[in-house]
Amino acid sequence: MSGDKVLIFDTTLRDGEQSPGAAMSIPQKLEIARQLAVLGVDIIEAGFPISSPAQFEATKLVAEQVKGPTIAALARANANDIEAAGKALAAAKKKRIHTFIATSPIHMKHKLKKEPAQVLKMAVEAIQCCKNFTDDIEFSPEDACRSEIPFLIEVLNAVIEAGATTLNIPDTVGYVLPYEYGQLIAKLKSDVKGIDKCVISTHCHNDLGMAVANSLAGVRNGARQVECTVNGLGERAGNAAMEEVVMAIRTRQDFFGDGGLSTNINTKEIYRTSQLVSQLTGFVIQPNKAIVGANAFAHESGIHVDGILKERSTYEIMTPETIGLGGSRMVLGRHTGRAGFADRCKQLGYKLTKDELEQAYQRFIEIADKKKEVFDEDVAAIVNAEMRVVEQTYTLDYLHVASGTGTLPTASVKIGVKGETKIAVAFGDGPVDAAYEAIRQAMDLRPKLAEYSIRAITAGTEALGEATVRISENGRTFIGRGVSTDIIEASAKA
Ligand SMILES: [Zn+2]
Repeated sequence: MSGDKVLIFDTTLRDGEQSPGAAMSIPQKLEIARQLAVLGVDIIEAGFPISSPAQFEATKLVAEQVKGPTIAALARANANDIEAAGKALAAAKKKRIHTFIATSPIHMKHKLKKEPAQVLKMAVEAIQCCKNFTDDIEFSPEDACRSEIPFLIEVLNAVIEAGATTLNIPDTVGYVLPYEYGQLIAKLKSDVKGIDKCVISTHCHNDLGMAVANSLAGVRNGARQVECTVNGLGERAGNAAMEEVVMAIRTRQDFFGDGGLSTNINTKEIYRTSQLVSQLTGFVIQPNKAIVGANAFAHESGIHVDGILKERSTYEIMTPETIGLGGSRMVLGRHTGRAGFADRCKQLGYKLTKDELEQAYQRFIEIADKKKEVFDEDVAAIVNAEMRVVEQTYTLDYLHVASGTGTLPTASVKIGVKGETKIAVAFGDGPVDAAYEAIRQAMDLRPKLAEYSIRAITAGTEALGEATVRISENGRTFIGRGVSTDIIEASAKA
């Protein structure tokens, strides 16, 4: 068992997208999938093709365009679902169908309204159906952790016999604790017939904050695939966070037996991937989030700083460089030319067209004028903000906000709406509120502001601020993002 690999099955695009409010467009999914390939995940679960035409299309495009990882699609245990998954995956070089059916008494009785014998039959038939499309077949007994173990073993025996190659054991509702989950994996590993030929997989939810701990308990007991998502996105409280699982396995190799365990992840891409997913979904990363939070490598107390300066390992179990943070902190400024800026963009992994580069460069010069030092994170924020504007429907031509003690916050705006210019003036509870009110009036819109957050991208009082705004109108949710050295301007742009 020495030196085994743990496969990373990323489900950011499927389970992650089921986070309330995290819906991603098809181009966004493609962009994330490409980055997941660069990151080195083994399997990308691209979607649930039967569930909607957009899901089908996204899965199909990822299967066609993203090279490297195996591309997986989800299907319930019926022929229609499996056929849709098979069709969506047709172009993939390596494809996997992931089919599932619930095996817990509570799900069988209330959700499926089926007897165990029927469920067993459907599971076997589903595997047989998958074989028409691929030999790489994953089976999940949904709600495995609340299933009766003898029945769970019976179903797993039968699906292996039918041809399943990966057995995923989901803690669908995030109910179990690490010790229990580890015991369950150990029991299945010893009692299910033919399981040695299959890969055992974990799929843990974070309802009790145990998703990563449970996944690792599964690995410790023989699981060799972990299903996870970037930043722990996912249904309800989310899935196991990819970056935590990967860094725990890497940092604690000593814990996982002779020779340790490893993954195929290029950890230096972790930070960039995390940022990309956060920016595209509008889900801001909490500062104290393990591995990728802004404070994850920040040392504050005097004793800690002193220790770090003397010997980093006194208070640091991982270095920020391993996750791709702050390796080169070379600073750009207003004297940086186009070539220097282009070179940095390239180093940061951006492939920009000439026009895009010029646009980003203009923005960079504006920012470099206000801010003496421009860091890599700033460059990334500029490029992300400038380049991902799919269609600039509105342009902010002018914004003036007056606020202070004793004055009523007032904003005046001039906005270009598809070639027309609109002007409005409004009061508000605060400067941001006033700016929004003025924009609403100018655009004649009444959207509901669902969520608003501001974060500083880099440190210092002149740092770039990134404002993320989630608005909803007529049941549709829009996410806007703006970057500026002025938070009010950033908010308005968003
Ligand atoms: Zn799930």
